[in-house]
Amino acid sequence: MKHRLRATLCLVLLFAVNCGRAADFEIDAAFPGGNITVDRVEGEAVFLRQDLRDTLGDWFYWAFRVRGAAGRTLRFTFASDKFAARGPAISTDGGITWRWLGREVVKDRTFSHSFAPDAGDVRFSMGMPYTEANLKRFLQRHAADVALRTGTLCRTLKGRTVELLRFGQLEGEPRLRVFFTARHHACEMMANYELEGIIEAVLAQDEIGGWFRENVEFRAVPFMDKDGVEDGDQGKNRAPHDHNRDYAGEPIYSTVAAVKKMLPDWSGGKLRIALDLHCPALRGREHELIHFVGGPEADFWQRATRLSGLLEELSANSPLGFRERDNLPFGKSWNNVQNGAARTFASWARTLPNLHIATTLELPYAVAGGQEVNAESARAFGRTLAAAIRAFLMAGN
Ligand SMILES: [Zn+2]
Repeated sequence: MKHRLRATLCLVLLFAVNCGRAADFEIDAAFPGGNITVDRVEGEAVFLRQDLRDTLGDWFYWAFRVRGAAGRTLRFTFASDKFAARGPAISTDGGITWRWLGREVVKDRTFSHSFAPDAGDVRFSMGMPYTEANLKRFLQRHAADVALRTGTLCRTLKGRTVELLRFGQLEGEPRLRVFFTARHHACEMMANYELEGIIEAVLAQDEIGGWFRENVEFRAVPFMDKDGVEDGDQGKNRAPHDHNRDYAGEPIYSTVAAVKKMLPDWSGGKLRIALDLHCPALRGREHELIHFVGGPEADFWQRATRLSGLLEELSANSPLGFRERDNLPFGKSWNNVQNGAARTFASWARTLPNLHIATTLELPYAVAGGQEVNAESARAFGRTLAAAIRAFLMAGN
């Protein structure tokens, strides 16, 4: 990877020299979450593609940085269309905030961008990358809140620290417990904004937050594939299998081993809900709807459907609506792997005692039910999801 990047930079220089001008812009992926392969640069035209690394088959994650392009207009042509329903996203503050440029800027796998006269570090991505730095900023905002604590789940194979968030009722024995995971697939970053919203709802100084802090202890692992998130990997369909196919037998990933060890101990028979937050494929009708993915156990799916009904009701006035009929029950579309039991996080969690709901929730990258998914609307959806979870738990399901 590094060699390829270096080769790319040399290429930029070479073309610039040939054109008789200074090498004045630079494209790279050498930052947390970065991912790009630059095939060639011809003047203002850049030809590039996502870096698949150890992915089995094709996938679509990319994120790159342009520096030294102030005042210029560059054209970025991808080897294939790897843009979500709102086109590429852009960040001009080093990856802190992002906005969609719009699908209309993409023409024939290409988008152009005119850099502001004072443009510095400008990043582009197929989504809105969320890495450890983003999580740290969120935790910093809530540093004084005693109902949110950050601990360590374990270390990764590459030596990184994996965060374990604890929030809600942290003093004394709670009545109930709820668990969340995100980024079993490294590229599925919109799930982390949703998780921020969930945590905000639990910390809020209102009736819902107050009830949670008196009744429910939460734990969450925001980055199940921490190495993949920081390195900018696809993560999905990673060889020999990805993190969400590591729950059968002896895990090969330390985070999965740690979750398999922690959850049964921590549950104490009080863990009611375990939700694994994902993002679906890049585009297409069924991938532009928020939906739960069902397993083959009828009782689990019945309860997930009940939560869905509450979520539909409560999301009626939210930026991102949810409809129970958009769910993907077992047996429908791709969700039909008969021998898939205990391979995914959700299917493994359904074997724990007293759990009522253990399932995957898919939040689209850019458009859900016709509405724009972005950091703010994803957080709002997370808050609504928390409200629905409270209603479900209060009903004693
Ligand atoms: Zn996924």
